[in-house]
Amino acid sequence: MGKAFFIDVAKCSGCYNCQFACKEEHCTNEWLPIAAKQPMTGQFWLKVEEHVEGTKPMVRIHYIPVLCNHCKNPACLKAAKNGAVYKREDGLVIIDPEKAVGQKEIVDACPYGNIYWNEELNLPQKCTGCAHLLAEGRVPRCVDVCHTGAIRFGDEEDFDDFIDGATVRMPELGLGPKVYYRNIPGRFIAGTVYDPEEEEVIKGAKCHLTNGTKTWDAETDAFGDFWFRDLPRGLFALTVEAEGFDELQFQEIDTKGNSINLGDQPMNRRKA
Ligand code: SF4
Ligand code: SF4
Ligand code: SF4
Repeated sequence: MGKAFFIDVAKCSGCYNCQFACKEEHCTNEWLPIAAKQPMTGQFWLKVEEHVEGTKPMVRIHYIPVLCNHCKNPACLKAAKNGAVYKREDGLVIIDPEKAVGQKEIVDACPYGNIYWNEELNLPQKCTGCAHLLAEGRVPRCVDVCHTGAIRFGDEEDFDDFIDGATVRMPELGLGPKVYYRNIPGRFIAGTVYDPEEEEVIKGAKCHLTNGTKTWDAETDAFGDFWFRDLPRGLFALTVEAEGFDELQFQEIDTKGNSINLGDQPMNRRKA
């Protein structure tokens, strides 16, 4: 147990305040012995990723702040020579700005790509957990400026409820990331059905989705739209039924790369 970051993606508005504040905190100051100055360009110790799901007009956007995971078993620490990366008692992983000079291999060691190379200083750099602020009893700068409370920081034992059901980035690597995420939206499959003869959308059509192991049901709304949200990545089959119309079938709808908008789908009137 130690310090960790807790990020609720549902609360993130994508304002980028945390990204800007991190730059401001570290580009205009050096916080030795914790961190040397960050260059004005080329580095984002915290980066807000924009994820665009679907295609127009059925698009959903969410934002995921990404920073060093302050891993339990840091790959960067193993790659460093002369103790140039160390883990503090509170769990924060720090690159020593003196000992790490010239050790470019530390950059490549992080499988998350969270370490940057400072060409001018010949130095690998990354998020410090704002350890210089913690020493003053303050919180990390990114946490301080987040107006929605999407990023929080604290002792893991105080966030049991958050951790229960949270995810981490690439857990399969076994590094024990200490940045926990909740409410990262899954994929969606959506579309609209309409009657081409009447040029009207079809309301209340019954939509049935399956991936072979699980099933989901939905009805088209007043706009003829159906939405299946928070789906896993994989292949799906969909059937749409509406009274008086031939059934629509879709096979191998693939959500591995992105959410899917099936677009406007005509339903033909059943012949007597
Ligand atoms: S400051 Fe908060 S709401 Fe804004 S982008 Fe960062 S995490 Fe999201
Ligand atoms: S996320 Fe990368 S840089 Fe951060 S502690 Fe883990 S291995 Fe090291
Ligand atoms: S904890 Fe500090 S260094 Fe790390 S991302 Fe937040 S503001 Fe940047």
